[in-house]
Amino acid sequence: MMLVFGSSGQVATELRGLLPDAVFWGREQADLSTDPDIGRMIEEARPDGIINAAAYTAVDKAEDEEALALQINATAPRKMAEAAARLGIPLVHISTDYVFDGAGEEPFVPGGMTAPLGAYGRTKLKGEEAIAAIAPDYAILRTSWVFSAHGANFLKTMLRLSETREHLTIVSDQVGGPTPASAIAEACVKIAGALKDQSSKTGIYHFSGAPDVSWADFAREIFRQAGRTVSVEDIPTSAYPTPARRPLNSRLDCRSLSAFGLDRPDWKAGIADTLAKLGVTS
Ligand code: NDP
Repeated sequence: MMLVFGSSGQVATELRGLLPDAVFWGREQADLSTDPDIGRMIEEARPDGIINAAAYTAVDKAEDEEALALQINATAPRKMAEAAARLGIPLVHISTDYVFDGAGEEPFVPGGMTAPLGAYGRTKLKGEEAIAAIAPDYAILRTSWVFSAHGANFLKTMLRLSETREHLTIVSDQVGGPTPASAIAEACVKIAGALKDQSSKTGIYHFSGAPDVSWADFAREIFRQAGRTVSVEDIPTSAYPTPARRPLNSRLDCRSLSAFGLDRPDWKAGIADTLAKLGVTS
């Protein structure tokens, strides 16, 4: 039995469709912020693998709530890693491009230097470090710009804004790979299965949608496919200040995922799929 942390999040929801026999623990079953004895809970559940799709994901709010974010993004994953080590089972954990500073224009490789710009990235990096130090069989899957028909994400924000706006200014100097949550869920399942058979595949991997694009061009494609007539004006990040600094270069080098037979997903197809699920037609 696979144990999934997260229940109603973007990736967790997609995992539900793929793993009908798995056990899903959301906040109600295990509130990671209040530090329940999740190590003991995991051992009692006796899963044969863990996928951690739970996280504190509010990037800007994390600047004011770093201790809480640290609890959910690092302390809890450390306990998952300790339990996985005791049970001898694989742990698949999702992480983020925000562990990098976004310098340059080259895609970041999994072994590249980490230097988070904000609290969210710092806490996610601490989670990665704990898992890598403790879990014998793990895969840390760094992804970026997640979207789906569920929860809050950029695609759904754009659709909402298109109901009332004909013109939007959108950041064009942050470039990365929008990633469908469904593709991340598929990758997690495949990786968890492979880790059970081949622990030599333990390590950090990158997985983001292709091709790399700016937020502004991502928005243009959303509006094109949804048949919304919204004009998009490029603006620099400096014209859209946010509490947390974000990396300008979120490109991830995903080539090592070929070890699992995985390619980068096509985010344009992901938009089409998501719009269909939302019942949006052009
Ligand atoms: P969501 O914000 O959609 O969902 C967060 C999940 O975390 C939910 O399932 C939620 O539980 C769970 N969670 C949050 N707080 C707690 C808590 N206190 N106790 C227990 N569970 C909690 O996240 P995504 O699906 O978008 O993200 C999945 C992963 O991808 C995360 O590791 C994230 O860091 C990473 N990521 C996300 C990006 C994005 O753009 N969203 C970009 C890059 C990486 P419940 O089901 O009960 O609500």
